[in-house]
Amino acid sequence: MTSMRARFQGQGEIAFEKVTLGPVADGDVRLRVDVCALCGSDKRLLQSGSAVVPGHEIGGTLPDGTRGIVYIPVFCGTCVRCQAGRTNQCLNLSQLVGWQRDGGFAEHVDVPARCVIPVPDDIPLSVAVLALDTVGTAAHALRLALRTQDSVDRALVVGAGPLGLGVVAVAQAMGIAVDAFDPHAARLSTAVTFGATPAQSLDDENLYDMVVEVSGAAAARETAQRVVRPGGTIVALGESNEPYTMPATPRWRRTDCYTVRSFYFPMNEVDANWDLLRVMGAQLRDLIVEPLTLPQLPDAFERFVAGDYVKPCIVSEDAR
Ligand SMILES: [Zn+2]
Ligand SMILES: [Zn+2]
Repeated sequence: MTSMRARFQGQGEIAFEKVTLGPVADGDVRLRVDVCALCGSDKRLLQSGSAVVPGHEIGGTLPDGTRGIVYIPVFCGTCVRCQAGRTNQCLNLSQLVGWQRDGGFAEHVDVPARCVIPVPDDIPLSVAVLALDTVGTAAHALRLALRTQDSVDRALVVGAGPLGLGVVAVAQAMGIAVDAFDPHAARLSTAVTFGATPAQSLDDENLYDMVVEVSGAAAARETAQRVVRPGGTIVALGESNEPYTMPATPRWRRTDCYTVRSFYFPMNEVDANWDLLRVMGAQLRDLIVEPLTLPQLPDAFERFVAGDYVKPCIVSEDAR
C-alpha cells in the first residue's frame, strides 16, 4: 500500500513523497488521515525544516471504522500523573506527534494506540479536530485559571488567532464574559462575531480579573501584566522564541496576582471538552476553518502566514 506525505525542507519549501507503507509497529495503529489542521507553531517547522512529517492536529479513521483524533503528547500511561488522568503532565513524556515522530500532513499516519481519542458519533471529525489545540488547550488553560479566582467579572483575551478565538468561544460557553484585543481588524471582528466585546482603552492599570495572553508578543505580555487587577490571574498561553519576563517596576513588585502557564489538556478533560464542542463547535468551525486538500498544503501555508486563513485544514477526498 502506498501513501502520500509532505516533507518540510526548510525556508518555506514543502515537498511531497509517495512511500510504501510497511507493517504497523507494536503498540501503534494506522489511521487514514481525514483531517489535519495547520497550527501557528507549524510555521517554525516550515522555516527550519523537519526530520519527520509535520502536522499535529489530526482526525482520522482506523481500519475498523473507528473515528479518532490524535493526542499529541506520547505519554507513558503508567507514571503517577498519567495514572491520575493528567496525561499532559506525564513525567516520562518522550515525543510529540508531528514534532519528534511523523504527523498528519499525509494520507496515513501511525500513532501509539493510546494516543487515539475516539470521537462520539454525534460529532463530525471537522469539529472533533478542534478538540485538540483550539478548544482542548483553551479549555484546560481556563480551568486552571478559574481555580485561582472566586469569580470572574470579565476576562480579556489578547490575541485573536485560532487559539485566542478558541479561548473566546470556550470562555463564553463557560459563562465568562470576554473582551478581546487584536491589532488585526479582521481577527478582532471574528472574535466579536463570537460574542466578545472589543476592548476599549488598555492604557490604564488594574482593568481585569483574568487576562489570557495568547499572542506571545512582548507588547501583549506587557499589556497583560499591566491591566491585571491585584488578586487576578494572567494566563500565559502565547508562544514565542523570547523568554517570558516579569517587569522590574514598582507596579509589578506591588501586584499580588497569579501567572498561570498550561500545556495542552489532560485525557480526563476530554468528555467535558466534547460537551463544549456540542455547544459551540459547529459555529467555531464555520467561522474559522478553511478546508483544503493535501496537494494545496504549500498554498495553504502561504495564505495562513499572510493572515488570509484563520484555521486551514487539510481534508481528505474521502472525508469531503
Ligand atoms: Zn498546535
Ligand atoms: Zn506518564
